[in-house]
Amino acid sequence: MSKLRFRVVESAFKKRAVETPLMKERPSEYFGQNVFNRAKMFKYLPEKAYKQITDCIDNGTPLDRETATAVAEGMRTWATEMGATHYTHWFHPLTEGTAEKHDAFIEHDGKGGVIEEFSGKLLIQQEPDASSFPNGGIRNTFEARGYSAWDPSSPAFIVGDTLCIPTIFIAYTGESLDYKAPLLKALDAVNKAAVDVCHYFGSDVKKVYSYLGWEQEYFLVDEGLYAARPDLLLTGRTLMGHESSKNQQLEDHYFGAIPTRVMEFMKDLEIESLKLGIPLKTRHNEVAPNQYELAPIYEECNLANDHNLLVMALMRKLSRKHGFRVLLHEKPFKGVNGSGKHNNWSLGTDTGVLLMAPGKTPEENLRFITFIVNVLMAVYRHNGLLKASISSATNAHRLGANEAPPAIISCFLGTQLSEVLSHLENSEDEDLNLAGKQGMQLNIASIPEILIDNTDRNRTSPFAFTGNRFEFRAVGSEANCASAMLVLNAAVAEQLKAFKAEVDAKIAEGKETFAAILEVLRKDIKACKAIHFDGNGYSDEWKAEAQSRGLDCETSVPVIFDNYLKQQSIQMFENTDVMNKVELEARNEVKWEMYTKKIQIEARVLGDIAMNHIIPTATKYQTSLIDNVYKMKDLFPADKASSLSARNLEIIEDIANRTNFIKEKVDAMVEARKVANKIETEREKAIAYHDIIVPMLEEIRYHIDKLELVVDDQMWTLPKYRELLFIR
Ligand code: ADP
Ligand code: MG
Repeated sequence: MSKLRFRVVESAFKKRAVETPLMKERPSEYFGQNVFNRAKMFKYLPEKAYKQITDCIDNGTPLDRETATAVAEGMRTWATEMGATHYTHWFHPLTEGTAEKHDAFIEHDGKGGVIEEFSGKLLIQQEPDASSFPNGGIRNTFEARGYSAWDPSSPAFIVGDTLCIPTIFIAYTGESLDYKAPLLKALDAVNKAAVDVCHYFGSDVKKVYSYLGWEQEYFLVDEGLYAARPDLLLTGRTLMGHESSKNQQLEDHYFGAIPTRVMEFMKDLEIESLKLGIPLKTRHNEVAPNQYELAPIYEECNLANDHNLLVMALMRKLSRKHGFRVLLHEKPFKGVNGSGKHNNWSLGTDTGVLLMAPGKTPEENLRFITFIVNVLMAVYRHNGLLKASISSATNAHRLGANEAPPAIISCFLGTQLSEVLSHLENSEDEDLNLAGKQGMQLNIASIPEILIDNTDRNRTSPFAFTGNRFEFRAVGSEANCASAMLVLNAAVAEQLKAFKAEVDAKIAEGKETFAAILEVLRKDIKACKAIHFDGNGYSDEWKAEAQSRGLDCETSVPVIFDNYLKQQSIQMFENTDVMNKVELEARNEVKWEMYTKKIQIEARVLGDIAMNHIIPTATKYQTSLIDNVYKMKDLFPADKASSLSARNLEIIEDIANRTNFIKEKVDAMVEARKVANKIETEREKAIAYHDIIVPMLEEIRYHIDKLELVVDDQMWTLPKYRELLFIR
């Protein structure tokens, strides 16, 4: 081991757990203590303001300035009592993280001093100087400024000394520059469309919620080892590194005992999350060494997504307290599993019904089937777009590789639900009376409730029905879930609207409601058959089959992004009022640009490491071998010396070949980047980076990894996989 490497490995090895003090209170007592939730609103707001703000949250009633001022005043009083001195509008720009700009609660008092103040105006709106957030040209072409606006549906919270106010981020001309604004619009669209469809089955439903339960996977790495790996530090993944002889083959990590140091980190994270009102419930080891997962109880989608972003920020912060760095990248290590973020998604009513769970009566089950079939139709019609919504330079390493969902979107339904659908499809009865005998024949009344505990889990499906919800598994660990959730909810909203129009037309022709519904469902089940696949998504046969079914099989991320600008996508987003063409075009510019930048950074980092770590180290070792060969000649007769040096000569030559190859490729990569950088359009540039630069990264890595195997371990400067993955 090189001296530096030895030191960091030794110090990582010796590290002991930092104990997280146990809380005196029970979770139920400190849950939400740092959140301005309803209980606090009740305590800190005048009665009228409390009524209006809760009405705004529950029913979307607009807030007047007077109420906003009262809310701001209440929030500030509470926050100051909690020790907060600053506030910030907390928003989700089109990067993976969140953004915040802190301002103190102080204003001049007119007498040379200051007073603590926070007005309704400041609560509602802020103008961050945000010209350096990605905007795809919207703010250049239209209006230079953007502003953030309060989202009352997600409660304010305190982190450290700062009151954080969840906000959307939009241009003055109205276009959204973030993830939250279109997500809120999509949730509104699906609410309206789903309520309308629910009314076929009774009039009591007033609101339909979209629920999200995310499962966050991540790696932990000792921070000393992390600091000694420039690639991890700068790109979030290892750009080189030979597989460890042992990694996950023994399957001994999954659900194994959680190491003490990690456990203390998890406890800390859970306590802080609970204080922020995030209902973390599950924690366990994942498949790969040093890989873990956490999941909360599901919540309303907008809130759940804010909570996910907050948890990712907490993980980054708290991991350092415990001497770790958290890796949220989808593929930090080659040869072991990558990390995803399963999005468990469903719709549910304000009357407490989960619309994707079977019920007890024929009507309930027809409603269940109605929602399932509409989801299938939406996913079928927009499968390419859904894939685009989860695609990124980083998630590309995971999709299509052998442990993750394939790069083709299909739906898994399981045996029971598949049977129910095929039964329905093939029963040709014209005017089916559900409550009567024929309804029973259709089996609609007897969908087994056991579906809820569906253990028929197909891990290879990117979009699987799991009993009372769908699990969108292709989402990346680092992603903002809103990207996938806004597309899914908008697509389902559009589909439900189309469905309702068709059913209404039949009713207008004199058809009985349920008969009309059944007729449209039968047609739709036939129409979206191509999306249903229960087999092995990793197999090559499936790739061929999916192609012949007409599903989107594109694997190049920059080309996958084209899906956002296809006619039927634009139409869908415009029909549901989620985004317009200008916004979609601008956002795609951002996506292509991001893609290019990420690959560009990786290429630079790999080039640097190759030139100033790998080649010098390999050459040093090679020189010591050459030295040995010469000395052998002094010691032994020529014949004997050359036979004794045969192995060394081979290695000397091997190192020469590989280092020459690496140097040539690094030079060629620099040239290729120069050419690509001159390309004018972001799309074509991203395609060039994908087609030309990405394969070069792989070729260079291949030879570096081979060198790692032959070069003396004492000289190797970079921590190896066996150290990164097994020392904690
Ligand atoms: P898994 O076996 O896939 O790990 P879990 O039981 O741990 O599944 O649940 C994963 C996530 O799904 C949790 O966040 C859970 O709250 C959420 N979930 C459960 N039911 C629903 C539902 N109807 N809608 C949305 N999310 C749900
Ligand atoms: Mg799951």
